Amino acid sequence: MAELDLRALTKSFGATVALHPTSLQVKKGEFVTVLGPSGCGKSTLLRLLMGIMSASGGEIHLAGQRIDGLAPEKRDIAMVFQSYALFPHMSVRKNLAFGLKMRKVAKDEQTRRIEHALEICNLRPYVDRMPRQLSGGQQQRVALARAIVMQPSLLLFDEPLSNLDAKLRDSLRHDLLALHQKTGSTSLYVTHDQTEAMAMSDRIVVMNAGRVVEIGTPVELYRNPAHAFTASFLGQTNLLSVNAYGSTCGLPWGGVGHLDMLAHGLVSISLRPENIMLHDAPDGAGEIIAASFMGAHAHYIIRIAGMDLQVTRSGAEAVLETGTRVNLTALGPLRILKTDGLEGKAA
Ligand code: ATP
Repeated sequence: MAELDLRALTKSFGATVALHPTSLQVKKGEFVTVLGPSGCGKSTLLRLLMGIMSASGGEIHLAGQRIDGLAPEKRDIAMVFQSYALFPHMSVRKNLAFGLKMRKVAKDEQTRRIEHALEICNLRPYVDRMPRQLSGGQQQRVALARAIVMQPSLLLFDEPLSNLDAKLRDSLRHDLLALHQKTGSTSLYVTHDQTEAMAMSDRIVVMNAGRVVEIGTPVELYRNPAHAFTASFLGQTNLLSVNAYGSTCGLPWGGVGHLDMLAHGLVSISLRPENIMLHDAPDGAGEIIAASFMGAHAHYIIRIAGMDLQVTRSGAEAVLETGTRVNLTALGPLRILKTDGLEGKAA
């Protein structure tokens, strides 16, 4: 049975539907990310789960209990915010103890849980400091420890890493994952950052315009997206309209591509930058109009057949210069995508 079970949960503000009826199950111990652009309904979903906003319809079940009618403090949910939201006038230890006191957890159990959280979040050296005496990364670890001590049925994360610099974000992402594995907590993590979602999740829920577009593991969604929206939001891609003739299609720059299913007529496909091979040839049909060496890979923009394509090559290969003429080969079967009006990269 699912630990968290959303059944046709929906929220409207007058004529604006912020969340269309949404059903989602999260298994016990699973780490699920809700990923989508600004305005897709992520915050609305979080507010409904926390209980600070009431739903227009549907049900929320957590650990076998229906909770959508319960007050926030009666829901067995702990939240880690983007802004840390620590109590500024309390030491780290007091921040961790606060929720446990409110819940009237026995004193020795409080101590046991706090000591454990200090240990696994590497916070021992800071236990007597005030939040203002901590770096952003340390404050976020305190916020995480404060959520963990509650041993909630569900841990909610609202873009917890977005206030940190890139390097710290990377290291905290690893810490978070390791902690998730140690505690076995059921986690719902909301973000607009596809790298975070890819790196951390058992499954990703892709949202756009108040709807779930698609749900899958990072590998499934990256390699075999069903929707053009998923293909373009998760990583970079080239979305192409091609004419299908059964199992093959004509490519815009000539030549034939192989499709992953039978189709006829105009279809949309996604061609990832790493699935295009470049061959430099003086009479090549394409031209490199931009080249960026990124270290692990080189990124090119190729102008061909009236369009600009993104192509990547391993950084270990020779770097090609702007102006080089090239021919292209599309690798692997091309995936036909649904568009359903959801295509395109949102803001
Ligand atoms: P962001 O990442 O920018 O915070 P989001 O994915 O969290 O975006 P929501 O805040 O959930 O998006 O908003 C979803 C939609 O609902 C948006 O179109 C927003 O304008 C609308 N909306 C949210 N709150 C209200 C409100 N109180 N009244 C009217 N419309 C609202």
